[in-house]
Amino acid sequence: MAHGTHFFMNPGPTNIPERILRAMDRGSIDFTGAQFRAISEECFAGLKRIFKTEETVLAYAATGHGAWEAALVNLFSPGDKVLVVESGFFSLNWGMRGEAFGIEVETLANDWRRPCDPARLETRLREDKEHRIKAVLLVHCETSTGVVNPVAALRRAIDAARHPALYLVDTISSLASMDFRMDEWGVDVVVAGSQKGLMLPTGMAFTGISPKALAAAATARLPRVYWDWKRLLGESSQAYWNGTAPVHFFYGLQEALRMLEEEGLDNVFARHHRLAEATRRAVRAWRQNDGPEVYAMDPGAQSNTVTAVLVPEGSDADRVRQTALDRFNVSLGGGLDRLKGRVFRIGHLGDLNEPMLLGTIAAVEMALDLAGVPHGQGAVKAAMEYLTGDP
Ligand code: PLP
Repeated sequence: MAHGTHFFMNPGPTNIPERILRAMDRGSIDFTGAQFRAISEECFAGLKRIFKTEETVLAYAATGHGAWEAALVNLFSPGDKVLVVESGFFSLNWGMRGEAFGIEVETLANDWRRPCDPARLETRLREDKEHRIKAVLLVHCETSTGVVNPVAALRRAIDAARHPALYLVDTISSLASMDFRMDEWGVDVVVAGSQKGLMLPTGMAFTGISPKALAAAATARLPRVYWDWKRLLGESSQAYWNGTAPVHFFYGLQEALRMLEEEGLDNVFARHHRLAEATRRAVRAWRQNDGPEVYAMDPGAQSNTVTAVLVPEGSDADRVRQTALDRFNVSLGGGLDRLKGRVFRIGHLGDLNEPMLLGTIAAVEMALDLAGVPHGQGAVKAAMEYLTGDP
């Protein structure tokens, strides 16, 4: 039997703040009426500020997988080719979905522990003289590894190769937690979800869409109905919702956007960086005695939303994770795909504070002990020292 607060430290979904829960704790209203229209307009205007775009943002009642699919079916025709920048489980998964629709998917192979080198993307695109590659698909923050890709530098690589490919970026575990700028960074389609930095329940997904992407959608031939951008846009921006609008999600989204803007996005990013850095210092303390280490190797590309922790060869990360849950009521993320049993993941995004993080680090250290994983001591102290240091 579990007692006390359940420490939910997964890298998504994340903790839902009381303010958002209370905002959703209301009755339904007519989704065709003026009251809902005002809420929805406030939400889309706020989303644009979070995406840092002046362009179109569309929403769906869906998980992130829905936004992935919306991007694919609106932009491509059977036989079109796309280039997936490999970063980990989520990048490959997005590409796999393209294949299911008859899109030819090439993978730009990449070490999961490091970000993609822009020079490699530029070289590959220069080789594509006939411009068969219609789009580059990138995951900004690869949630399975905790590695962050350099979105702006990769845009510059596309430009340096003078390649016309569309640039699609999955921001599911970065948006509203780490800096992201759709327009300034030249991103054509942004894929996002509700359940991480936006602190909402799972079930709403978004796409930011550039004029170039809208033009590509006009000639793309993959079948689509629910995801169809043209249908959703109707005569004007956000004119149409497929079916009944999820009014309660909009209540929550309205509150989430207000919270983020009251704090200020730069402060939100700084807060995420601080808790992430404390986590990394804790892992460095465990690293002594050949213990666990941060999976992401490049210090400049370590995520501020999730830290994947690689356990030493011969240790079982799932055992650590299960022990933390069973004994201490702390929920961590598991290893995905080839990282199953090799990493556990600490989510440090959304609504959390220092004591929640320190409690988690203490619980993980106890779980490492109980699971017989060699490790150094003093992770909580290392994190505390950082958190009480000069900002
Ligand atoms: N892309 C990334 C980077 C993710 O982290 C996730 C989920 O964690 C997804 C895509 C899929 O999103 P969803 O689970 O909401 O379908």
